[in-house]
Amino acid sequence: MSKDIATPIRTQEILKKYGFSFKKSLGQNFLIDPNILRNIVSKADLTKESAAIEIGPGIGALTEHLARTAGKVVAFEIDQRLLPVLEDTLSPYDNIKVIHSDILKADVSQVIKEELEEYTDIMVVANLPYYVTTPILMKLIMDRLPIRGFVVMMQKEVADRITAKPGTKEYGSLSIAIQYYMEAEVAMIVPKTVFMPQPNVDSAVIRLTKRTDVPVTVIDEDFLFEVSRGSFVQRRKTIYNNLQSSLPNGKDRKEEILNALETVGVDPTRRGETLSIEEFGKLADALYPYFK
Ligand code: SAM
Repeated sequence: MSKDIATPIRTQEILKKYGFSFKKSLGQNFLIDPNILRNIVSKADLTKESAAIEIGPGIGALTEHLARTAGKVVAFEIDQRLLPVLEDTLSPYDNIKVIHSDILKADVSQVIKEELEEYTDIMVVANLPYYVTTPILMKLIMDRLPIRGFVVMMQKEVADRITAKPGTKEYGSLSIAIQYYMEAEVAMIVPKTVFMPQPNVDSAVIRLTKRTDVPVTVIDEDFLFEVSRGSFVQRRKTIYNNLQSSLPNGKDRKEEILNALETVGVDPTRRGETLSIEEFGKLADALYPYFK
């Protein structure tokens, strides 16, 4: 087995050799601790029968750990400057495909068909660029990829919001949008000291496992997310007030909103943060005939 990329000394050597300077705008905070990497990979439960998709391999710190554990790794990297670096650092491995692309523009389904055809178990594993964590996750979830789930590092505050349960101050429309499709849990908290350069915020790794069934079947999923977003516009306000402000002409349609709330047994004085996903689903369906 070759020497780990992710040690402070080796990382410094690689950066120096290529005259690489970090781009803050691309969320470049590289991992420099092999123990953390081993831990992240273990949370994904990979075997040689599995494949991993990585977003943002950087200089290959996590990529090589994935390559040692999984059958194949496909990694999407936006920064062209890193391609020759990866070519060099990952040369000991023959089961890695690096694709130069912005993950937000990539046709990941097509890449899976072309590169991972023989794999039935696929996980997305990444230390995400923090400036686009949510758009990346939402894109990959809405692409409905044939994957088992995600093990991804992000800013701790975002991890708390994604995994939050009803009745907590972190629970909101992001928790609902992700938990509608995925079971979500925080897998580990990660200190700033394991990154180069160190980020200003704390980090956490979350594990998302695709649900076999959505928690509640609705007429229109987009409308469910519209209603849930609208219910949290002003967190301190009641759901009734928020829906009046957020639904089209809501102020003139108080009766309809009250009717819908009553039909599904939600007290109009409750706040959005107290409603479960199932309650939001029923509420969206009750509002649908009036607002769609
Ligand atoms: N995986 C490496 C590690 O853990 O050391 C690097 C992680 S660093 C937090 C994020 C990586 O994502 C960087 O390599 C950055 O260039 C890349 N990146 C940023 N935006 C991206 C995007 N839209 N698509 C693909 N890669 C992106």
